Amino acid sequence: MGIGVLSRCRRGRFWAVGKIIGIDLGTTNSLVAIVESGIPLVLADGQGRRLTPSVVRVPASGEPVVGWEAKRGRAAHPETTVTSIKRFIGRRGDEVDSIADAPTYPIHAKGSGPVAVPLHGRDWSPEELSAQILKALRTIAAEGMIDRPEAAVITVPAYFNDAQRNATRRAGELAGLRVERIINEPTAAALAYGLGSLKEKSKVAVYDLGGGTFDLSILELNEGVFQVLATCGNTRLGGDDIDRALIDHLAEQIGQAGGPSASSDPVLWARLAEAAEEAKTRLSTETEVAIELPFLTPGFSFEHTLTREQLERLAKPVVARTREYCLKALADAGLASGDLDQVILVGGQTRMPLVREFASGVFGCGAGGPELNTSQNPDEAIALGAAIQAGILSGDFSGMLLLDVTPLSLGIETFGGLMNVIIPRNTTIPVKRGEAFTTVADYQKEVLIHVLQGEREKAADNWSLGRFTLEFEPQPKGVAKVGVQFEIDADGILHVLARDIKTGNEKLVEMASAVEVDDAEVQQMIEESVEHAFDDIEERRWIEAKLRAEQTTDATRKGLKTLGGELAADQRGAIESALAAVESLLAKRGRDEAVTAAELKEANGNLDAATQPLAELIMDRVMEEMLEKRGVLPG
Ligand code: AMP
Repeated sequence: MGIGVLSRCRRGRFWAVGKIIGIDLGTTNSLVAIVESGIPLVLADGQGRRLTPSVVRVPASGEPVVGWEAKRGRAAHPETTVTSIKRFIGRRGDEVDSIADAPTYPIHAKGSGPVAVPLHGRDWSPEELSAQILKALRTIAAEGMIDRPEAAVITVPAYFNDAQRNATRRAGELAGLRVERIINEPTAAALAYGLGSLKEKSKVAVYDLGGGTFDLSILELNEGVFQVLATCGNTRLGGDDIDRALIDHLAEQIGQAGGPSASSDPVLWARLAEAAEEAKTRLSTETEVAIELPFLTPGFSFEHTLTREQLERLAKPVVARTREYCLKALADAGLASGDLDQVILVGGQTRMPLVREFASGVFGCGAGGPELNTSQNPDEAIALGAAIQAGILSGDFSGMLLLDVTPLSLGIETFGGLMNVIIPRNTTIPVKRGEAFTTVADYQKEVLIHVLQGEREKAADNWSLGRFTLEFEPQPKGVAKVGVQFEIDADGILHVLARDIKTGNEKLVEMASAVEVDDAEVQQMIEESVEHAFDDIEERRWIEAKLRAEQTTDATRKGLKTLGGELAADQRGAIESALAAVESLLAKRGRDEAVTAAELKEANGNLDAATQPLAELIMDRVMEEMLEKRGVLPG
């Protein structure tokens, strides 16, 4: 038997890891980052811009237009300019009513079917449109990197369900990227803030206020891994609402000055929107800005001075709406704000001083409360965290030891073709776990160690990572002891050690990575294990009951042969009928007739009860023999 031969399971699941980029695929803006010489960096486009608007325009002919150009052209082409497609990715038609905010572009949404955007006679899926944004980011990366970007880590909101995560993964693939991981946005942000090195059990609130969405997540650092304790938010609350309040204010001022109405003029509205956002952003660092909009109509120009105080008055009701989500997330996590160690700010809108003060107030930051950490660029933190995760995967980032978890359970095949789990799924690595096994046949000279990965009860339904044999000193069955130890190192490599406990003879075999498993296949494995859970458990119970039945029937027959004559007739009769019942169930199953594990278990129990007098007799004989040997009893 060869050692560590990797079989079918390795196909396609163990990527040769090259340069991996980190992508924050946002509702409003997207970013791409990498780790270069150990430093995480956001990449800029040819014009030095680090944000790419998540906007795609599909013209009647030619290639889609993406990013800044598409955003600028939106007012002129509202029906073919797709914004906020992230709201639709992985959603069903019947979910759309609650998420659509009358987009300016058409949406096809029917029943349980996927959402589509019909443009120029072709249905575009949200994945295809997102893929256009990802392609643009890939191009930015290709221009800013030495290696060609082939793989990516993409972030998604913590609340994204499987369908939304899978659709995001498909978008990455459509953009020609191998998607190494889909990770949660708050986790990525926490990584960028360097919180992976906080003390164990640290709790962090991630307050993420972007252009169109607000998310509040509470994470706990557990053995080097962030777990989402609670996540709460509103997919219709963000900086855009502040912009809208400011646009309304400006439109009112224009009206009072005798200017045109913006409500019926999309081009004027777009100019106001652009001016409002610019003023809002500048007021994060300045206390007063002059807004100038020349020639709104041929005879009318508009000039207005806006102070930070005025903006804050307009923004306050919007920002205050985030409070309820913060309190709800804390309640869901069963925590008080005093239990938090840090509050980190994510999303461009948290650059606004008012938002910082507000978040600090809600969580009671400062004196005795959690620390408000604003050390990172809030609009870049998620992309940087994705790049750090990518860097860890490709070995480019060693500044922090990020502990990973095993995506699937690892174990060995045991008698009866069952999976015996040694390291369960989601165990933090590095990890070392062992278990002792024994032999099932007398005087076995070697044992086969078949290493498996997966969530199914039967060995054959899991992935085989490899097999090897260990020779050991022949002993009666059940006496030989083989210790098996699994160790996954910080690189995710699985080392399997098997040792004959008696002689110390051992074999150590290195398997491939136990961690670098394709997420889609992990997902499939887990789905299958859920789907087959009842059948699998029934099968395991049957196999266990069958092994037990075979052992007891064998031992009972031997006992009856030697000592049966010493039992009372009714005792012998009871044993024989219980024995026949067990054997008849085994035979029935052998003929493919329906027999449940519970029936066999019950018959095993009856046989155990019936053989009680026989077992006592055997014990008496064993004791007598022992005492005889020691010379206590006369021979
Ligand atoms: P994000 O979705 O994280 O890219 O955040 C986008 C939102 O942040 C938009 O509403 C921007 O107007 C807003 N934003 C970006 N920079 C600033 C800033 N310096 N001050 C206030 N808001 C900003």
